[in-house]
This record gives sequence, structure tokens and C-alpha cells, in this order.
Amino acid sequence: MTGPVAPSPSHTLPAVVDTVVVGAGIGGIAVASGLLRAGHRDLVVLERADDVGGTWRDNVYPGVACDIPARLYAFSFRPNPDWSRRFAPGAEIQAYLQGVARAEGVTPHVRFGTELLDARWHEGPEDAAGWVLTTSRGVVRCRSLVLAAGRLSEPRLPAVPGLDRFPGTVVHSSAWDPTTSVAGARVAVIGTGASAVQLVPHVAVEAARTVVFQRSAPYVVPRNDEAVPTTEREHAAADPAFLARERATLFDQAEAGHVARRAPGAARDALRRLALDHLAAQVPDPAMRRALTPDHEIGCKRVLLSDDYYPALASGRAVLESSALVAVDDTEAVADSGRRHPVDVIVLATGFAATDPPVARRVRGRDGLLLADHWGGGMTAWATTLVAGFPDLFVVDGPNAALGHNSAVDMIETQARFVVAVLRRARADGARTVEVDADAERRWTADLDAMAAGTVWLTGGCRSWYVDERSGRLTLLWPGTARAFRRTLERLATQPLPGRAA
Ligand code: NAP
Repeated sequence: MTGPVAPSPSHTLPAVVDTVVVGAGIGGIAVASGLLRAGHRDLVVLERADDVGGTWRDNVYPGVACDIPARLYAFSFRPNPDWSRRFAPGAEIQAYLQGVARAEGVTPHVRFGTELLDARWHEGPEDAAGWVLTTSRGVVRCRSLVLAAGRLSEPRLPAVPGLDRFPGTVVHSSAWDPTTSVAGARVAVIGTGASAVQLVPHVAVEAARTVVFQRSAPYVVPRNDEAVPTTEREHAAADPAFLARERATLFDQAEAGHVARRAPGAARDALRRLALDHLAAQVPDPAMRRALTPDHEIGCKRVLLSDDYYPALASGRAVLESSALVAVDDTEAVADSGRRHPVDVIVLATGFAATDPPVARRVRGRDGLLLADHWGGGMTAWATTLVAGFPDLFVVDGPNAALGHNSAVDMIETQARFVVAVLRRARADGARTVEVDADAERRWTADLDAMAAGTVWLTGGCRSWYVDERSGRLTLLWPGTARAFRRTLERLATQPLPGRAA
């Protein structure tokens, strides 16, 4: 694997290009690969950082890995026989994404160090209408704009008084400096989500003292990770059909998890039992076990996979503070319980601005309408992708396109195929703009709301980033299965768009 490609004169921005993709993470790579495979080469990918990979480039905290099995967390069109473990470490996923971008010919289309600052739809005579993009490296005009800016790209920092005056180190989990050591330091980890449970056991081994601020206890189930034997990797390399079968099996296993989220019943009871048995097996102390028992229904938030999180707490290597961080007073992290913890380093594993993506404040459609205003009550898009009033805009991994029970890579691949199919058809038809009407978007949103009603994400009694606080709507997750998402988008890709495509 070679490293990132730095901006160079050969990577200057063209003044005009047919399609611009914003972001070179999994979404951007998937769309660009699909377009290139379809022969659509008039394409530029804007990437504000200096490498592809998105979330896997940024997240380098100790212990970072994926909790979806590696063979499922990979593009079906680029299987990888070389995963070292059943659950891939973050660095391997990043190397994989770099490799895919190179092998698919995406890398030369990426303009690194180029941030989208403003995107405006310009009306005009047929050939003049389109997007005008202002970037940190100049202006580009394009016909189609694909936003693949990521849903886990903007850290959410807690509004805690005194945090800005903390004299020690404050770091968000997604901004970890790999050269930083916490050896001998007193560390507070804020949050108990997927990032925290991965990093806490590693930080706790190095730090002099680690205290975990838990506002709400998560459900944790066994991870059962293991190294993949060399013989199996050799077999996978020699027989691509083996990997395809494995991916399909893992996909089906993950899909089975949806029923527990859809409604109460035996599947949900079994999942809850699995988590509570894991807690009972790993945490012998009844008081600690009580403090670690969630107060909401399982599946309402992401169900976490870990075999070393509870042991880090049960062994005393990390201390559980079972309340939120509410203030920082000089060198003390103050908990809602009133306890004060002297610390040198504060690690914010507090998640991301996912429901209100900052990029939406940079995109204006017809009549100057700001995407963030269109999404003022929560994100919406027909077919999770096309937004009324925003012609030739495609949103990838935006509204209702994520999952709580299966692989994000599979969902992104499905959506990328949809984007490519719609774009190809529009170009083949000579259609000037790709657009859906507001009624279609409203009907689509109402249908999704009806699907989401009664699911654990809305009834499970938790606060989660899947739900928009402003409207109480489930805006991040697709409420159905990944297979239903595939079928729906494949069907819609073959039908006329419900609106203007003239
Ligand atoms: P997250 O799930 O949003 O968790 C944020 C945590 O911070 C929550 O536990 C929240 O508590 C807590 N928090 C916020 N303010 C707090 C305060 N003042 N005091 C104490 N706690 C506070 O963020 P994340 O862990 O970074 O995960 C985000 C998403 O990234 C995941 O859902 C997943 O999709 C992805 N991810 C995936 C993997 C993977 O292996 N595939 C790994 C890491 C992340 P509440 O629960 O009370 O709100």
C-alpha cells in the first residue's frame, strides 16, 4: 500500500466538470467507483483531508476496530481475503479503502486538501443551469453534485462549563493523536458508546487512573473476535466464491437481528438475555452490575460488542462514574453525582453531529433555499437520496440510510448503485435535471415514519443520535432490513422519477 496522494499541479481543479462527489470516505469511494465502472469519467472527488478513508482515516484511537464482521464490512465488488481478524482493526480497514480507491481508479480523481465551502444551484437556460461550488482551492461548476460527506465526520462536543478552560489535554475520540501517550496520566473518558467501549480497555492499561463517565449504560454483547488462520486466508484468496458465500452468510445472520428491533417478542428477549448474561458473567459485584444495567430497551441504541470493556471496569483498572460530566473545575472533572475526579486528560467519546450535518449549511438549492433549513425538522430525501428543491443533488448516507443491525458498507453500496443508475438514465435520456417534487418527498417521508412507528428506536426509552431531537423523527436509520433497502432502491432505479426529469 502506498500513502496518500498530496495535491499537485496535475491535481488542479477543473473549472467545469460533469459530476462532483464531496468526500472520499466509504460513500465517496463507492459512488466514484460505480461511476467509473459505468464509464462516467468526467468526475472529481473533493476531499478536505489528505487521504481517502473518511471515518477510518480519522479514528485512530487505541483499540479502534469495526464491530461488524470484516468480510461483511467490505464492498461486494472488492472482497478482501487478507483480513487478519474476524473483526478488522481500524488501520486494516483504512488500508483496504486506500487499496479500493487505487484499484478502482478513484484516487486520481480525488482533489485532496479541497474543502467544499459553498454550493449553489444556479437556474439558467438549459445548458447553463447547474451547481457552482466554492472550494478552499477555487470555484468549480458541475451538473450533478453528490454529497458523501459522512455522517460521523463532525465531532459533537458536550456543552460543559469549564471544559474550555481545562489546563490539561482535551481530545475527541475521532481526533486522537497516535503519537500521544496516556501512560501515567489520570484520564477521564466521557461517554459509553461504541467508541468508548473500544478505547477504555486500552487506555486503562496505560493510564495511572481511568474514570469512565457513564450518562446511560449501554447493552454489551460478546464479541468473540479471533485471528483468521493463515490457511483460511490462503483458501479465501484462491477461491473468491468462498468469500462471496461467507459475505452472504454474514449478511443473513445480521439481517436476522432486525426482528428484535422491529417489535417486542422472543428475538428481542433473547438479545436482551444475551447482553444481561454477558454482564452477569463478567461483572461479579452486584452494585457495579446494577450501575451497568441499562434503563432502556435493547436495540434502542447501538448494541455494543466487547469482551474487554466490562473486565476493565470489574478489575478496577477503570473506575465507573455512573453519571454525566456536568462541569470541569480547573483540573477536576465534575460528575452529576457531585463527585469530583482530578484528571490530566479528558477523552470525549461523545459522538457526532449526525442528525444536523454541518455540510447542509453550505448547500443552497432553488430560490436560494438552504439545505439545513429544508432539513430544519430533520433530514428527509426521496429514496433516501434526492431532495425536493435541490436539482441534481444526491445525498449518500444521509437521511434514513444507516442501519443499527447490519453493515453500513452494504447500505452505501446499495445507495451508490442507485445514484449511478439514476445518473446514467438521466444522461441517456438527455434529461437536463434530476429532480423529485415536494409531494413525492412528503409521501416517502410519511411512509418511512409509518414503518418506523413501533420500532425500538422510537419506543425503547433511550436518547440516541438515530432520532432527531427537533422532531422526534427517526431520521438516521432505515427502519427496515438491508435487503428491503436493496429491493426498494433497485425497483425505484428502474422507474421514472416522481417529479421533473426534463
Ligand atoms: P455515541 O454512540 O453517540 O455515544 C456518545 C456517548 O457520549 C453516549 O454514551 C452519550 O451518553 C455520551 N455523552 C455525551 N455527553 C455526555 C456527558 N456530558 N457525560 C457523559 N456522557 C456523555 O458516539 P460513539 O461512541 O462515537 O459512536 C457513534 C457511532 O459511531 C456509533 O453508533 C457507530 O455507528 C459508530 N461507531 C462504530 C464503531 C464500529 O465498530 N462499527 C465503532 C465506533 C463508533 P448517552 O448515551 O446518555 O447519550
